[in-house]
Order: sequence, then structure tokens, then C-alpha cells
Amino acid sequence: MSVIDEVKQRTDIVEVVGQYVSLTKAGRTFRALCPFHSEKHPSFFVYPEQQSWHCFGACNTGGDVFSFIMKKEGIDFGDVLHLLAQRAGITIPSRFEPEAGGEEKQRLYQANEAAALYFHNLLLNSPAGEKARSYLASRGLSPKTITNFQLGFSPNSWEALKQYLMDRGYTDRELLTAGLVIEAEAGEMRDRFRNRLMFPIVDARGRTIGFGARALDDSLPKYLNSPQTPIFDKSSSLYGINLATAAIRQQDLAVIVEGYIDVITAHQNGFNNVVASMGTSVTEKQVGALKRLTKNMALALDADTAGEEAMLRCVGYENILDEEVKVIILPSGKDPDDVIREDVKIWQHLLEEALPVVDYTFNMVASKLDLTTAKDKTLAMGKLLPIVAEIKETVRQAHYLQKLARLVKVSERTIEAALSRIKPSQGRRKSEKPSRESVVQAVHPLMSSPVEEYCLALLLRYPELKSSEGLLPEYFENSENREIFTTWQQVNDLPSLKEKLDTAIHEHLDSLVTRSLPPISQTEREYAFTDCTLRLREKFLQGLTAKRAEVLASEAESGFTNAELAKLQEPAKKISTQLGEVFAQKVKGVRDELGK
Ligand SMILES: [Zn+2]
Repeated sequence: MSVIDEVKQRTDIVEVVGQYVSLTKAGRTFRALCPFHSEKHPSFFVYPEQQSWHCFGACNTGGDVFSFIMKKEGIDFGDVLHLLAQRAGITIPSRFEPEAGGEEKQRLYQANEAAALYFHNLLLNSPAGEKARSYLASRGLSPKTITNFQLGFSPNSWEALKQYLMDRGYTDRELLTAGLVIEAEAGEMRDRFRNRLMFPIVDARGRTIGFGARALDDSLPKYLNSPQTPIFDKSSSLYGINLATAAIRQQDLAVIVEGYIDVITAHQNGFNNVVASMGTSVTEKQVGALKRLTKNMALALDADTAGEEAMLRCVGYENILDEEVKVIILPSGKDPDDVIREDVKIWQHLLEEALPVVDYTFNMVASKLDLTTAKDKTLAMGKLLPIVAEIKETVRQAHYLQKLARLVKVSERTIEAALSRIKPSQGRRKSEKPSRESVVQAVHPLMSSPVEEYCLALLLRYPELKSSEGLLPEYFENSENREIFTTWQQVNDLPSLKEKLDTAIHEHLDSLVTRSLPPISQTEREYAFTDCTLRLREKFLQGLTAKRAEVLASEAESGFTNAELAKLQEPAKKISTQLGEVFAQKVKGVRDELGK
């Protein structure tokens, strides 16, 4: 049995959903006010037998326990899987971890978490923490914010933390690997962080992976980070991501700032989609990590540092996201923390005024030059052409080519010729990995839905079928199948699909990709795919009818008014019409095939 199946088996949807909404038993179902839309009378139902839910109101949608939590918490399939596995006491085997050494890593997460608690407690309660407390107060941070971010204080001692953690069974080797201590001469271990304000860095799954630390005196460096460890890679981590994930998904936008305090102040003021690149410019890995949540990014940049080189990097991010990146230009010398504390409205305004990076660069370059002179025209070309050349997406590139031609009043032809002499920087692009590096032949013991899986296997083998209409995500009952289906719509090749999917689904994906399909012609595979789509649609509609029937069966005790009941019955007619359509299409399909 796969881990996913095991998690499903050990999870009761009534119990889980019941933690979010108050459920009332109604016949064989449970009902509640829908948590996804506002309503006065409950049209949200949970079906214990099918382990599913459905909202017959404005949402008119449903699914299983996975889709419920994904929707409610704004987290992805993999995160829900880990959450439910933990809840059910199932350890996800280490083969699902990207690398080996899962147990060692667990110890490192735990050591970091214990250190975070230790620092947090000292900040709140120790006399020595007073300096850190007054610094935070001067920044206007509330106690609630300090708790949410688990801020802490590291005492001015060589071995306070070391001693604390060793008393709790951690070895000095583990503390060294976790980056919490450093090796002084003669193999002596000392605390890495001393007399500093501590910012625990927590990943999207809530695991403490490292620390940022700000000096509270004149010590240098002012900011110190955990070193690279088996669980911490600064270039791919984002500060605040644990608290920002839901907002980023909901707003379909991530705002990236540089500093820890910038993130914290933003969140305290309700801007919850803000994360930080931790003191350096954003990396491609960080952008790649965000891409799982949204394609839309806005970067907050200081007016002084937002030069052409920074913009060129931003265009690189656009190529990763396949979407425009916006820039939020901060007043010279100010960071988001200053701006927000001064006046939230100014920050709000800057967010609204954010411009696509290439437009901003054009304005910036043009404002500094006199484009009536030949000299400055050449300068503008020299600054802007490399940026236009870097744009991968052809329509956008053509758009900016025209814009550049208008700006410097030169024919597009001339600019195109100049462009063809510049080669976009290919160096950054990764060499493509083989698509099926690890071929897992494992056939699922639980072939939970053969039609769903056959349909997916066809789609994965013949991507051109993706353009066929009629197949909807909700037709997939199995959430891992649904997850593969929706993700496959967003990417172009199998390596990208795999990269986007949680590692826990890789095994299932591999089994679909390597499934042996009989060789079939193009017409045959189109026919097979249409057939699958119709069968899934039929199953979906029948399921809906059954669910509705159960709701109506419970009407006696449900307390619905007649008007509400009529409203609930309304879509039933629509469903039976749709089922009729499916039937007609099937008959037509058979006729077509016989006619050949
Ligand atoms: Zn609803």
C-alpha cells in the first residue's frame, strides 16, 4: 500500500473537517455552513461513507479530505500529505525524501527547534534579554508578532546553548552539523550566536532550518546567518514562507523584501504575502521555490540599487516564472520596514504603483538621458538592448523591441539587427535532466481508479491530448491523480512536472509514466481519451446525484425551509440533463466507430 493510501485509510474526513467547521449530523451526512463562501443556511455536506465533501451552494464543488485542506489552508498536496501523515502517526519513509539521511536530518530539525524555543524563552523572560526586548519595542513589534515569528535572544555566553542542548541528549557533532556551535582551537565547541536578536528561519513545512541573528552591540557582522547545513541552504530558503504561504496563494502574488524586520513589520500590518531573501538579492532557486505557489512576484528594491544590472537579473526571474516580475521602488535609503512604520498608506500606494521590470527600466534609463542627442540614444540602446535580448518570451520581446525603437527613434529593423548580434546569456540555463532517471516499475497494489489512471497515462504519453476539452480536475476522485492532472496542465515536459510535484507523488507518477500502453494510432488515442473523459464525467455526475439524494433523504431532520429545499433541488435537473448528454455522446461515439 502506498503512503498516500495509508494516510487516506487512517484519516476520517468528518474528524478533520470538524476541526474547521461545526458539523451537524443529518441522516447519513453531516452538514455545516460552507467555510468557503458566506451563507446563512448550510449547503456544505460531508459524506463519511465516501470520505468526501460537497458544497451545493455558491461553490458548487467538492472533493476529498486532501482538497478540503488544500483549499482551506492554501497549502499544496505534499504539505497536506505530510500534515495528515503526522496526524495519523505515519512516518513518511525516507525513500520519499529527496536525499538520504532522513533520520540525521530529523535530529537537526529538532536541535534547531529546541534552540529556537530556548532563545525565545530567554527573550521573553530573562533579565539579559532586556536589550533585545527594548530594541523590538522601538520597532513597534507587538507581543503577538514576537510569538508568531518566535523571535529570540542568544545570551552573551560561549556555551549556554551548547550546554542546554547537550543536557537534552544532542551530541557536539550534531550541534556542529546544525551550525549551532563552531569549532574553536583544540576541538573546543563554542556557541555560534552570542548576544544577538534571533530570527528562526522556518521552512514551508514548519521545520526550523536555521537562524538569522542581529547583533545587539557593535559586533560585526551586524547580521549573521546559520552556515550551509544538510537542512539549510540560504540561497533556496525564504524567510517568513511558513507564515506567508496561504496569503501568497490567496492573493496569487508574492512580495519579496530583503530583511527579517521588513517581513515581520509587513505581516504585523496585514501584508501576509511578504517573504525575505535574507539580506542578499533574490536567487533563482528562491524564485523556483516560490513558483510552486504563484507565478506573480513583486520585488521591493531601493531606488539607489535598482540599476540595470539588477533589472537584468529580474528578467532572468521572469524567464523562470514565465510571467512579468514587478518592482516596488522604495524611496532612496529606506527599507519596507521604515516605509510601513511611517505610513501604511505609502506602502500600499507603492504596491499599487509597482511596474513590470522592463517598463520600469525603460522609464529609469529615459529619465536620466537626453534622447534628442545621438550620444544618449546610443547610451540608451547600450543599456536597454541587453535587457530586451534577455526576454525569452517572444511576444513580450517583440513588444519591447517596438518600444525601444520608438524611444530612440530608430527603425525596428535596425534594432532587430543589433539584437541578433547579442546572444542572451545561455549559461544560467540548466542542462536538461533525463526524463525518467529512476524508472520505478512498481504497479500499485491498490488500483483505486483504473479509468482515472488510464486517462492520465494517455495524457502523459501523448501531451497533445491536453488540448482536448471536457476533462475537468473535479472528475478525478483521487487527489493524487487530480494533482498530477492539474499540474500537468501548467507545465510542458515531464522533468518540470516532476519538479513541481511533491516527492511523495513521484512513485505514483513514475508508475503512470512507465505504464505499458498498447501501440495506438493518433485517431485511436483521441477516441480512447474521449471515451475516458466521458466515463469519468459520468461517474462524477452520478456521484453528485447520489450525494444530493442523501441530502434530500435527510431533509426531515435537516430543518430546511421549502424555499431552501427547492433551491437545493434545482441543480439536480441540470445534472440529469448533463448525464443525458454524456449518454448521447457515447452513443454517437459508438456509431462513429462502427461507421469507420
Ligand atoms: Zn460553498
